[in-house]
Amino acid sequence: MTNGTLPTLFTAEAAADPMKKYMPIGDVTVLALCIILFMLLIQTFVRKDKYFKYTIIMIVLVYISSTASLMFNTLAASDEAAAKSTAVYILRLVHYVSLCMVPIIYTVYIQEPLRLHASRKFFDSVTAAIFVIAVSVDLIMTRSHNGFYISADGTAHFGFNIFSYMYAMFYGSIIYSTIKHRDRLLSRVFSGLMSVNIVSLATMLVQGFFGQTSYTNAACIFPVIGIIYLFHSNPYDTEIGTVSETFFYPEHDKRIERKEQFVLISCIIRGFLNALRESNDLMTESYAFLRRNARNGVLYRFPDDRILLSLPADANIENLTRRMTDEFKELYERFRLDYKLVVCRSTRSVTSAKDYIKLIEYAEKNTAFTNIHYIDENDINDFYDSGYILGELAEIASRRDLDDPRVLVYCQPVYNIRTGKYDTAEALMRLQLDKTGIVYPDVFIPLAEQNNCIHALSLIILNKTCRAIREMLENGYDIQRISVNFSAIDLRYGSFCGDVKNIIAGNGIPFGKIAVEITESRSESDFNLMKQRVIELRQLGIKFYLDDFGTGYSNFERIMEIPFDIIKFDRSMLIESNRSESGEFMVKTFAGMFKKLNYSVLFEGVEDDRDEQHCIGMQASYLQGYKYSRPIPIENLRDFLTRTA
Ligand code: C2E
Ligand code: CA
Ligand code: CA
Repeated sequence: MTNGTLPTLFTAEAAADPMKKYMPIGDVTVLALCIILFMLLIQTFVRKDKYFKYTIIMIVLVYISSTASLMFNTLAASDEAAAKSTAVYILRLVHYVSLCMVPIIYTVYIQEPLRLHASRKFFDSVTAAIFVIAVSVDLIMTRSHNGFYISADGTAHFGFNIFSYMYAMFYGSIIYSTIKHRDRLLSRVFSGLMSVNIVSLATMLVQGFFGQTSYTNAACIFPVIGIIYLFHSNPYDTEIGTVSETFFYPEHDKRIERKEQFVLISCIIRGFLNALRESNDLMTESYAFLRRNARNGVLYRFPDDRILLSLPADANIENLTRRMTDEFKELYERFRLDYKLVVCRSTRSVTSAKDYIKLIEYAEKNTAFTNIHYIDENDINDFYDSGYILGELAEIASRRDLDDPRVLVYCQPVYNIRTGKYDTAEALMRLQLDKTGIVYPDVFIPLAEQNNCIHALSLIILNKTCRAIREMLENGYDIQRISVNFSAIDLRYGSFCGDVKNIIAGNGIPFGKIAVEITESRSESDFNLMKQRVIELRQLGIKFYLDDFGTGYSNFERIMEIPFDIIKFDRSMLIESNRSESGEFMVKTFAGMFKKLNYSVLFEGVEDDRDEQHCIGMQASYLQGYKYSRPIPIENLRDFLTRTA
């Protein structure tokens, strides 16, 4: 074969003139690249897990290999080669051995994402064997002058090179296992790996085609760059393929601005990451699920285990989301994971990426596990209302006006069985807001509690209740007492006792006209606090009611430690006692016990005559419910009492 016709790999002709097939440019570039990579890796934030060290080892090996290659090739081509023949042999061996170590370490590395742990031992022994055989074959080839050798006249002869076959074999097997187990990789990771492997292979082939050996080390560094980028410095994690939430906002604000349609599917799966690590089946099924359904979507990872899939909304999107949610249910059935899905289509009424996330969080709170919720216009309206309500609440709290007109006191009269009169009542809060009209506690109490506005509201209710009592007393209507609800958060305020005392005293009414309703505390510290507060304020004459008995984790012993005046049985207890004889027995027993211990028992939610008779038979002292009156504005209480007197 002559120059100008097909050049071939490792030909005798190329071997005859080593400088022809070797130019230092390739190795010099690789050396520079290794230094740059190394510096960047130690200077920047990359995922330094236990596999990270393999990337460093590979870089060092390529560095050694390139240096050795540079020296070997220069020496082999020089005129004094004969004199330095031993050094040439050693440098050549160093070059090839370190070069072949790179794909071997790459193979060790790649077993992790491909989850090939089972075959690791087998692989290690086979590799060691191949390695020993390759080095021996090379030595034999050199001795028999079939491989690389330097002849007596000092000329370098290249001949057969076992290492290039070994190198090709390892790369071949890497590419083979990557393709074979592609379902164990996220599709992005798979295409990333394949493209660097292919470029690396192509570089080898092309240089072979031109009878070159200058770029062997270069081809070797490409896959290393690939795994550093794919597994260690990637914005998405290669385990579930999510991008950090911080990428979500700019990306979607851009989409909103461009009026692009999209669908967001938010998913909370309890213990998903652990389950994924433990079950290969779950992992491959999840990847397959994503491949089928979310090809052009992006997954984002949010705090609290939330994963959000964003899909462009094309014509097919309705079918796609239906199919996805169906498949999701099926997946759940198989792997028994608790999930919550919220699906949200882009709409003109939501104008920022941040609002989409808040809307989804809002809908998520109202969605139970193992449920899928499609956000609709109603959700969006409620969500914006709740944002508006929260704004008003914050404003009320910061203004600290104890007469704030937006906070209304309603009250529900309580029937006293012994006196046959309505001599007490419970104050219940309402909000009167411009945009929404009257707002009920189930909507705003949780918002107020979560956003630290509740205490300001409670004090307004207390103040307005005290004033109403004073006005009634001044006008000659004797009301024995009105109870006001406080939440556990109120009790945590250091100023709680002082605030309550000052407001009652400021209105000039006896302390005994006010009762405080509190619910059972969940935590030990709240319980101790509650006990202290009750003891302190009771000394002044303020009464205490335990609210909603029977709804929490009722703990009889603990309740006994606090000197309550009245135990309010929640409506659920009444319902339970209506349902069965054993239920009735239980509720009756509780009520009897409280009574024996000098607590009074109040039944809430008495709706009709049957409820009333039932409660009377169960040791009730007080009755409250729609049967007697719905909650009414506190200004109307006087009329009610006059009518029923
Ligand atoms: P709660 O303290 O258990 O108040 C009783 C709730 O039961 C009231 O709901 C009342 O309207 C309702 N109710 C009364 N009679 C019946 C009946 O016969 N059947 C049925 N099914 N329900 C009846 P409301 O006013 O919507 O208040 C709900 C909850 O909001 C209250 O439950 C209380 O936990 C909280 N809340 C109300 N006002 C305040 C307040 O000023 N401060 C605090 N911290 N919480 C409040
Ligand atoms: Ca209450
Ligand atoms: Ca209650």
